Amino acid sequence: MRIRLPRRAARWKTGGASAVVRATCTPHSEERPVSEPEPNNPAGPVVYRSGQEIECWLTDMDGVLVHENHAIPGAPELIQRWVDTSRRFLVLTNNSIYTPRDLAARLQTSGLSVPEENIWTSALATAGFLKDQMPRARAYVIGEAGLTTALHESGMILTDQDPDYVVLGETRTYSFEAITTAIRLILDGARFIATNPDATGPSRDGVLPATGAIAALITKATGREPYTIGKPNPMMFRSAMNQIDAHSETTAMIGDRMDTDIIAGMEAGLHTVLVLSGITQREDISAFPFRPNQVLPSVRELLQQL
Ligand SMILES: [Mg+2]
Repeated sequence: MRIRLPRRAARWKTGGASAVVRATCTPHSEERPVSEPEPNNPAGPVVYRSGQEIECWLTDMDGVLVHENHAIPGAPELIQRWVDTSRRFLVLTNNSIYTPRDLAARLQTSGLSVPEENIWTSALATAGFLKDQMPRARAYVIGEAGLTTALHESGMILTDQDPDYVVLGETRTYSFEAITTAIRLILDGARFIATNPDATGPSRDGVLPATGAIAALITKATGREPYTIGKPNPMMFRSAMNQIDAHSETTAMIGDRMDTDIIAGMEAGLHTVLVLSGITQREDISAFPFRPNQVLPSVRELLQQL
């Protein structure tokens, strides 16, 4: 399949499926010739950015690796390649419903074998943020096991008695009573945190109201905006990079949305790869005031470069 690149990414040179691909992200930096991979390099061929090897990968899940519970062609092989070559990588999701173990099991049924330690959710990022801000804080939580488990494991106390925070996450059983409690606690001074800003989520029968929609309801009633952790807050990526000891200069982000994955990746200083297998289509890209470093039809084409 022919790979079309945006103007900036056209500076990349490809030398065929087995060749090293090297990015020159600094406009005036000197081009260096494309080099062949070391024959005995156990990590195999690699992607370079400004002469430095991309050592770590962050990737979005829906629209990049899976679509409606089916693995996107190339995704299982990409994950396997990273596992086999001991690459540091994390699969990111704004969904805070599931624990990494639950998500790994769900991905497995979609045909993707992702170790649970390679999954990073907005719930984990939120737990890490709160632990950093106020160790052993008290929190009133609206959410599912993915969020409550992460908060418990980070040492937080879950309570509706005088909490320091109200933490809102994704749930399929929003209760008017719980929302009322959250509103009253925020009005009494609890700080308002949301795991992710998504207004809707997908389901087989159509869209579902998601965390952002419920947050808007609470904001309307309290006049207080939440601090939101998930994408497009670069906090999500920074926390993920901390988890795998990655550095922005040598980390890439793969996503299917310009308005979340790519903007947040750019703001976190990462090399950004937009795949067209999800939300953003090629004709949408030019409307945004920023560009991904690379545009590919899907991860299958990325796999060919690795
Ligand atoms: Mg996506």
